[in-house]
Amino acid sequence: MTESLSNISGVGPRTEEQFEKMGIHTISDLLEYFPFRYEDHAIRPLSEVQHEERVTVRGTVHSEPDLRFFGKKKSRLTVRVLVDGLLVQAIFFNQPYLKNQINLGEEMTFSGKFDRHRLMVTGGTLKKQDPDAEGLEPVYSVKENLKVYQLRKFIKQAFEQYGNSISENLPQQLLTTYKLMSKKEALYHLHFPATAKHLMQAKRRMAYEELLLFQLKMQFFRKKEREADQGQIKDFSQTGIEAFVEKLPFPLTNAQNRVLKEITEDLRSEYRMNRLLQGDVGSGKTVIAACALFAAVKAGFQGALMVPTEILAEQHVSSIKDLLEPFGLKVALLSGSARVKERREVLHNLEAGEVDVLIGTHALIQEGVNFKKLGLVITDEQHRFGVDQRRILRKKGIRPDVLFMTATPIPRTLAISAFGDMDVSVIDELPKGRKVIETHWAKPHMLPRVLDFIERELTKGRQAYVICPLIEESDKLDVQNAIDVHAQLSQALNVYNIGLMHGRLPADEKEEAMDNFADNKTHVLVSTTVVEVGVNVPNATVMVIYDAERFGLSQLHQLRGRVGRGSEQSYCILLADPKSDVGKERMKIMTETNDGFQLSEKDLELRGPGDFFGSKQSGLPNFKIADIVEDYRVLEVARQDATKLVYSEAFWQGEDYRMLRESLEKQGAFKREKLD
Ligand code: ADP
Ligand code: MG
Repeated sequence: MTESLSNISGVGPRTEEQFEKMGIHTISDLLEYFPFRYEDHAIRPLSEVQHEERVTVRGTVHSEPDLRFFGKKKSRLTVRVLVDGLLVQAIFFNQPYLKNQINLGEEMTFSGKFDRHRLMVTGGTLKKQDPDAEGLEPVYSVKENLKVYQLRKFIKQAFEQYGNSISENLPQQLLTTYKLMSKKEALYHLHFPATAKHLMQAKRRMAYEELLLFQLKMQFFRKKEREADQGQIKDFSQTGIEAFVEKLPFPLTNAQNRVLKEITEDLRSEYRMNRLLQGDVGSGKTVIAACALFAAVKAGFQGALMVPTEILAEQHVSSIKDLLEPFGLKVALLSGSARVKERREVLHNLEAGEVDVLIGTHALIQEGVNFKKLGLVITDEQHRFGVDQRRILRKKGIRPDVLFMTATPIPRTLAISAFGDMDVSVIDELPKGRKVIETHWAKPHMLPRVLDFIERELTKGRQAYVICPLIEESDKLDVQNAIDVHAQLSQALNVYNIGLMHGRLPADEKEEAMDNFADNKTHVLVSTTVVEVGVNVPNATVMVIYDAERFGLSQLHQLRGRVGRGSEQSYCILLADPKSDVGKERMKIMTETNDGFQLSEKDLELRGPGDFFGSKQSGLPNFKIADIVEDYRVLEVARQDATKLVYSEAFWQGEDYRMLRESLEKQGAFKREKLD
């Protein structure tokens, strides 16, 4: 329904203009301009109402209303009302005329936001005692001079004139399977919900539609990419891989074995691998990367491993060298801080095919880095890389296979949605014998006890990390903090060596600080968050995090993952004095769970998907009705349906699916170029 709004009786050029400003151009736009919330006028007992929740209550007027003006237009009307035996203050802003409608001793029904602590209901409205007013009232956001009641009137009018032309875009079969409302009914009940149940069904139908369309787009794109983007078949012997795995210092976990199989199958296939490998901190992703690199090299290709920090690059080089060099593979580091001559040599060897595996930071994707035959690209801690960086690196090879590794666990369905064109592998098991890291939350005044505790572990020969207060947007202050804490600890723990690490140190000093800690020459490492990802020093058993409330859950979990890497019991101490409820909740969650996946689900609940995925990278559209967190089951169902559909004849040819195809067409789904 692309007819202009002027067809609706009562809409003149003025109103049309106002609609334009709200992004409403057609009849369809208007019918799909949904309320952003619903006011529930069902009267509820106050004892059930949460702090800051919107409510409608009824009570007896207990005081004369008190009206005050601020300037000409602003006013506040306060009246005390006895509700369920509680004396509550009702406060109405800028509605001075209500004063005459409120009479001492009479019953009064009103709504607003409930402040539990101060027993106030503010910013609300007075309700007429009319039975119709009870129930759900949609609340719309409006702009300019358009009033909500006008908007509602026009929507009602639009339904009267065009309601019968609302066409169904879901095939009957899906409607039946999931007992979904028709589109027409759903739209109607979103605007004029007959009952809460109708509204719920209407939302369910629209959420499914939105998520199905979204998933169809994703799955269609993925199918297209798979078909078009032929990778190189990598031919390597299975026994070779097995021999390599056999020589590892430990047996792989079941999860590692499963994931390795998924990866090697991808490498062998003619499809270009595009896979996300998720595994909690310490689940053993590095060794899987080594296996994959080994396979690629055995098939005659070069491999690249890209990591977010120099420290991590150094560490990977040493651990991957240990694994690969005994098999005759050549591993090299391309460091951002390498001397010109060294760098030239590495680059020369790379181009000559004398380097099999190159490891580095984004230095890997700079101009002048040329591989002879790049076949596999692995990025570790994938979430740290920008989309552009990944694309540039991928372009350097002849459609190399790509593996993204991340320890920021994302609920699986969400990962598949957010990284729609990827396959997802999950290592959901930790190596045997790992002890659960004991996590404690301490208030800052308990620092002396925390220091005693550190000392006790040091006496046992263990080591500790101390992560310094974080100052947002100020690298300089972070560094100062680290220096201060370092000085403090050097004094408090003066028989031990205290190392210092921060982003402003020159590369060789960073390396030295890390090496000293790894070699147990320093016993405590005071650091900014630069050690957040990947660093592996198994003898460290204590992680102290200052100002823990300033970190997100996944970052805290990452930091905590620096300990618990050996066989000894490890501890994480969060020094924090969070003021907000969310902050306190975070500390509590940290002390209660060690499982990154559980943690990420909680994080998602606390933060919502936008924040969770970080701005643009998410690839998630703004849904009108669907809510990624609440509707994640629907999302999973929609994903499965979409996957089936894009590979089915019926979807592409069937009359039943014509409207669905058209909906997709309208969203530009078939024109889409690349996802990244
Ligand atoms: P992450 O997944 O966080 O990158 P790492 O790859 O750094 O984890 O592995 C953490 C530690 O666990 C390393 O010391 C590694 O050698 C060890 N490790 C990996 N896999 C196993 C296994 N199957 N059994 C025992 N130890 C393992
Ligand atoms: Mg790692």
